Amino acid sequence: MKIEKTEILIIGAGPAGSVAAALLRQQGRQVLILEREQFPRFSIGESLLPQSMEYIEAAGLLQDVVEAGFQYKNGAAFVRGERSTEFDFRDKFSPGWGTTYQVQRADFDHVLAKGAERMGAEVRYRHEVLAAMPGEVPQVTVRSPEGEEYIIQADFMLDASGFGRLLPRLLKLESPSNFPVRGAIFTHVRDHIPADAGFDRNKILITTHPEHVDVWYWTIPFSNGCCSLGVVAEPAFLERYRGGEMERLQAIVGEDPNLTRLLKNAEWGVLPVRQITGYSANVKSLWGPGYALLGNAGEFLDPVFSSGVTIAFKSAQLASACLQRKYAGETVDWERDFAIPLRDGVQTFRRFVEAWYQGGFQKIIFHPDPQPDIRAMICSILAGYAWDKRNPYVAETERRLRVLEQLCAG
Ligand code: FAD
Repeated sequence: MKIEKTEILIIGAGPAGSVAAALLRQQGRQVLILEREQFPRFSIGESLLPQSMEYIEAAGLLQDVVEAGFQYKNGAAFVRGERSTEFDFRDKFSPGWGTTYQVQRADFDHVLAKGAERMGAEVRYRHEVLAAMPGEVPQVTVRSPEGEEYIIQADFMLDASGFGRLLPRLLKLESPSNFPVRGAIFTHVRDHIPADAGFDRNKILITTHPEHVDVWYWTIPFSNGCCSLGVVAEPAFLERYRGGEMERLQAIVGEDPNLTRLLKNAEWGVLPVRQITGYSANVKSLWGPGYALLGNAGEFLDPVFSSGVTIAFKSAQLASACLQRKYAGETVDWERDFAIPLRDGVQTFRRFVEAWYQGGFQKIIFHPDPQPDIRAMICSILAGYAWDKRNPYVAETERRLRVLEQLCAG
């Protein structure tokens, strides 16, 4: 079998892979990305957080993203029955970007991958990694679009295979998520929401089901007059609805009066309606000899706070900083310098996700008389600044959130 060599091999050209590639190219590394699909390709995960802009900028990809014409986003709106509240991310506690975009991932991921290519990374589409061997000289077996198999050997390998979870599966690194299994049914609709309907296209809308606190909908407007629309619930709830996926999604959306009003003129069928179940995942270790896991190939929590792409970028940034030190001849402690700092922020998101599904976080955000300084700190987390330890809700997430939940419970 033919053997090729590269310095850094990246599996997957999603957000984690492309941003890692761009950062590593800035260091002058030779980077090869193997991507099993042809881009552009559909992916879910369309609402970005302002924190993610810092990584896009650091990777040299800001102009590519800005010029792509995605929907501007400055916050999040939450509705449950008669109650509603809005967070403008520019009111956050942490310094840094307060705005971002809502993106069709087919286009966004392609923009990032083309940006990485422009910076000198090689991207091979429709090259699927079939097998991987970690070690001092990690290597993978690849199938080309023509069906030929070949081997790549690298100095280091980054698994950015997302929900493909290549190395976790091959190396038996999978460990169960501590969240219950949930599923999502989603699509894109041409929404035709009238300008006077009280719907802010610059914000993601998160709607809690009127009767079930752990069932929620997303409405993510795009710049082309369409919205991404989805519902998240435990499988037992989703299975109660009969018919095809479109009928089931329409029936569940029909249970919320505000969404029904907003979407009364919506055209369906822009994209097929899809269902995905059991996406939360974890691993025993985020790194090993000659490799590290980025983005969803490591841990995926839950979609409710739109944190997935931000975490994917953060993992790319931490891994590329470790590799820079490795090539400078320093000893890298991947646990101390990659896994622990990454998991710090993930842990903050995790606690917020738990509080969301238990209902405590919803009591906090819908509280009629919030304290502005605390709201700014909560806003920071919603904007993705989950690694900013100056924020007491990051430094002491568990204790602070518990106290706040108790205060708002009455
Ligand atoms: P991916 O984007 O999955 O990219 C992985 C790439 O690897 C793919 O292109 C794939 O084709 C390729 N690949 C896989 N296996 C192989 C192989 N063997 N060989 C070669 N290539 C391979 N996140 C947000 O930030 N905002 C949101 O609003 C949001 N909403 C979500 C809603 C739902 C219902 C779900 C489930 C997730 C949501 N997410 C959201 C999370 C988001 O989808 C992911 O966190 C994000 O896509 C992770 O990026 P990634 O680069 O790690 O992986």
